[in-house]
Amino acid sequence: MPYTNAPDMPAKLARLRERFLVRLSEDLECLQKEADRLVSDDDGGALCSAYHRLHRLAGSAGTFGMPDVGRTARALEKVLKPVACIEDESRLDSGHKARLFEELSSGLQVLRSLAGHQTSSAHDPSLDKANVFDRTRLEGKQARLLIVDEDTDRASLLCRELSSYGFDSLEVSVDAMMTAIDCAENSGVVALLASPVKVPKVRTVRNSSSDPAILRLPIFAVGGHDSFDNRYELAENGARGFFPDPIQLPELVERIEKLSADQARGTRGRVILVEDDPDLAEHYRLVLHLAGIDVRIVNDPTRLLSDMAAFRPDLVLMDVQLDGYSGVHLARMIRFDAQWLSLPIIYLSSEDDPDIQLDALSKGADDFLMKPVSDDYLVRSVQIRCLRARLLSDLMNQDSLTGLLKHSLIKQTLEQEVARCRRDGHTSAVVMLDLDHFKTVNDTWGHMVGDTVIKSLANLLRNRLRETDLIGRYGGEEFLVVMPGCDLDDAERVMQDIAASFSALAFTAGQDRFHVTLSAGIAAIHALSTADESLNAADTALYRRKYNGRNGVTVFRSGPQNAPQEAH
Ligand code: GH3
Ligand code: MG
Ligand code: MG
Repeated sequence: MPYTNAPDMPAKLARLRERFLVRLSEDLECLQKEADRLVSDDDGGALCSAYHRLHRLAGSAGTFGMPDVGRTARALEKVLKPVACIEDESRLDSGHKARLFEELSSGLQVLRSLAGHQTSSAHDPSLDKANVFDRTRLEGKQARLLIVDEDTDRASLLCRELSSYGFDSLEVSVDAMMTAIDCAENSGVVALLASPVKVPKVRTVRNSSSDPAILRLPIFAVGGHDSFDNRYELAENGARGFFPDPIQLPELVERIEKLSADQARGTRGRVILVEDDPDLAEHYRLVLHLAGIDVRIVNDPTRLLSDMAAFRPDLVLMDVQLDGYSGVHLARMIRFDAQWLSLPIIYLSSEDDPDIQLDALSKGADDFLMKPVSDDYLVRSVQIRCLRARLLSDLMNQDSLTGLLKHSLIKQTLEQEVARCRRDGHTSAVVMLDLDHFKTVNDTWGHMVGDTVIKSLANLLRNRLRETDLIGRYGGEEFLVVMPGCDLDDAERVMQDIAASFSALAFTAGQDRFHVTLSAGIAAIHALSTADESLNAADTALYRRKYNGRNGVTVFRSGPQNAPQEAH
């Protein structure tokens, strides 16, 4: 699922903001007391705690919609910084303290008046938009589609039909488009479906957004008459697909499923957030969660390493100043462990001194996000880095010659499929493929030519198999394919086809032209109880195929005779 469905998210964010307002007024009271202590006899530690309080406020107020409070707190923080946590505050002379008291008091006055404008009923306009729409209607389905059609009966029918494929769709008017698209951002709409006459308007509305996620939403034209002129006009108007009457629903559904899968690949991510301010941490978590990113909050740094081992994040977001700990040292500690050497660590900090930032970066983190960081910026920064981390891990998991999964990963995939079959009761097949007489290919035309043959088979498999099939390079010239939701007959047919196509490919080496064949053994994953048993069965079938003349497919069928059957 591309985005996490969260109809009550605006309410949760609003509650966090209310909590922040309560805490703000408590903080202002404490700050006043700390200022008063400065000019009293007992001033020990007052400056230091006022400084930390202001630092935290400077970093969080913007996130809760109060940038002015944040800025004022930051200005005061800077006044206190040079003297804040010196060993012995009593070394400051009374004149100095009096001046600090004056500055702090007048700053607090400003803060109080700014906070006074923010009663808890004050609302964030972005939350309003969300409430215009009944989000509960969007809950619990695979993907969401918006349908804009001048003919509401037709739109309702399409809605119903799509829902039988497991897609939740919502029929909206052009006037409601903007609101609907705004909501869509957070609730996981993957496409806009519009009747051909509505396509230009839908596009105009979509393009009025400044949000790249909304600008990327594809528009599919549905219904209408099929002709070159219509197609051309739709293409001109930015449509990404056209499904004319009578609408071929399976085609439309397949297109949408592919989109959802692509979106899911692009947005997922796992993030560990080390932040000791619980409200701020929860706010970040919610915002990232809306964008489909899993977040685990670590507020006790002593648990950081065990949480990382259990959660296996793509990225760490690290507050720099934690209660009693330094994020900089924690980042360095993470790097002690070789498995986390390439893990991106990003500091979240209200530190705006570039020297300190640089110093922190040199100690093990990769980047700095300045608090307050806007929700959108946070999401995009995290998404980009998660994507990069995943590409890197793809690189590590993929065989360099063919781009297919490496041995260990394809075996792991098979194990997962065995478990899934047992759980859901569906049928799946596993195929073991091996090039025939490949040693002769190498011996005759050289290893480089042999490599080309291996790559060609990898490409053929990728192009011919379904998106959901998993293909790995099991060994030198051996491949393993896992075909979820595929029965033996289908797997056999597909593999026969692939074997025939492969044997028809002509390879060249100098003046020579030659052909290579393959043998395949197929077994039913669901009929066997472990991954090893499936592998052995496929291997037995492959061996039989080799024995019986190669160039073709043999299926291992469990039954009384338990004998593999040939297919030529
Ligand atoms: P059979 O039909 O029985 O499978 O015969 P075969 O010659 O294909 O089988 P054998 O296992 O004897 O030889 C496999 C050959 O594949 C030997 C090995 O050098 C070659 N090979 C393995 N990996 C690679 C590779 O990455 N590139 C190339 N060019 N050759 C490879
Ligand atoms: Mg071979
Ligand atoms: Mg072999």
